[in-house]
Amino acid sequence: MSFFGYNASMAKAISRETVRTRIAPSPTGFPHIGTVYQALFNFAWARRNRGNFIVRIEDTDRERFVEGAEGKIFEALDFFFLREDESPRKRGGYGPYRQSERLKIYQKYAEELVEKGGAYYCFCTKERLEELRKKQTEEKKPTMYDKHCLNLSKEEIKEKLGGVYVVRLKVPENKTISVKDEIRGFINFDSNLIEDSVLVKSDGFPTYHFAVVVDDYLMKITHVLRGEEWLSSFPKHTLIYDYFGWKKPLFYHTPLLRNPDKSKLSKRQGHANVDWYKEEGFLPEAILNFLALLGWTHPEGKDEFSLYEFIDKFDVGEIRTVAPIFDLTKLEWLNGVWIRKYSLEKLKELLQNFYKGDKEIEEVFESKHIDLLIRLAQSRMKKLSEFKGLVISSKEREYTKEEMEISKILFEKLSALDIKDWREDNILETLRNLKNENGISMKAIYFVITGREQGLPLIETMVRVEGRDEILKKLKEKSPQ
Ligand code: GLU
Ligand code: ZN
Repeated sequence: MSFFGYNASMAKAISRETVRTRIAPSPTGFPHIGTVYQALFNFAWARRNRGNFIVRIEDTDRERFVEGAEGKIFEALDFFFLREDESPRKRGGYGPYRQSERLKIYQKYAEELVEKGGAYYCFCTKERLEELRKKQTEEKKPTMYDKHCLNLSKEEIKEKLGGVYVVRLKVPENKTISVKDEIRGFINFDSNLIEDSVLVKSDGFPTYHFAVVVDDYLMKITHVLRGEEWLSSFPKHTLIYDYFGWKKPLFYHTPLLRNPDKSKLSKRQGHANVDWYKEEGFLPEAILNFLALLGWTHPEGKDEFSLYEFIDKFDVGEIRTVAPIFDLTKLEWLNGVWIRKYSLEKLKELLQNFYKGDKEIEEVFESKHIDLLIRLAQSRMKKLSEFKGLVISSKEREYTKEEMEISKILFEKLSALDIKDWREDNILETLRNLKNENGISMKAIYFVITGREQGLPLIETMVRVEGRDEILKKLKEKSPQ
């Protein structure tokens, strides 16, 4: 029985919380491949549940702020087809989505947290804090704030609030703080090792720890999928949620991306930058496929799958705790796989975009054989940047005496094939015979015919691109005169 089209099974669907995930990048430099990795998992989980994927810009660290970095983040998301539902450029019901535009909100919640006893004002001067740090370092103690302002009297606080101050988190002493990661289970932290961190700075800007909690709460984030490097901040976040009495989202900390030598993929490495992948001619489909494999295993053990298949099969609970190494050789292999999936038209368009402004290759695009060249190159290419080397010989080297002799032999043998016999099977047979009877290697044959060490498939090129006359002419030229 339904009322205005409403029935019991819909009630069930409606009462289920809408899944809301987010990434919270800071615009502090070039777009990092780690941001794409996070975006992929958060996007997929939101899509899988018909939920929303949010991009929040965490720009409260004004010292590290880089002009234009935000735009680059969105450019990267577009390149990877990871379209968000809410962000500074796409209004939703929970904005603003740039933290620098939410200062009043943090101010209000900071005051509330102080009232609730979860935070306190600190009036310590820079000098005092430096002194403290020096002393702690000398005594080989962990450098952390000493709770100096924790127990100031009401009057003292009132008096000092006219001046400069920060708001600090009140971390209880001698407690175990237990945090729950949905992949790792409960993790315990000794509260004495956790600092009373600054939540609101003297300029009124919140720090990451505070803003991230307030915003994830207010933006109704249900699942936080973020990098493992944030695990150590997790107890602070947990304390803030609990002081406010707020329901926590579910947390999943994804494994760190590591280089083959186990080191962390750092900002200084070229391939940390999303632009590097574009410049090398990696395809977004291949990169996403590769990134997905770094945190997750396909239920059928598949290596190749599309974003749609990932969305369809992905379960957050299956995120691994340890990532395999960030192996660029594997990415290249996958990229080749994806290049071969493209239609000629699409690949041509990609190549034309990739080589825009490159005069040398523009000529190649005008050749009447261009489609064929692309098709032949498609079978060999691992990255778009390899196309040029396949179709244009950049550095021609001189032929050795021996190679000139081979040219002569090849000329003689191949001239025996007249135009109607100039077919792939006949040529293959001729070359095989040469190899068997004269002991000439295929490698040498390849060089002598093409003038390059490697490139497009030889016989197809001889028949379909160059043709008999062209090949014979070249061989004659290279023969001893
Ligand atoms: N702003 C943080 C970052 O740059 C966000 C961390 C988080 O997801 O909580 O990655
Ligand atoms: Zn203080």
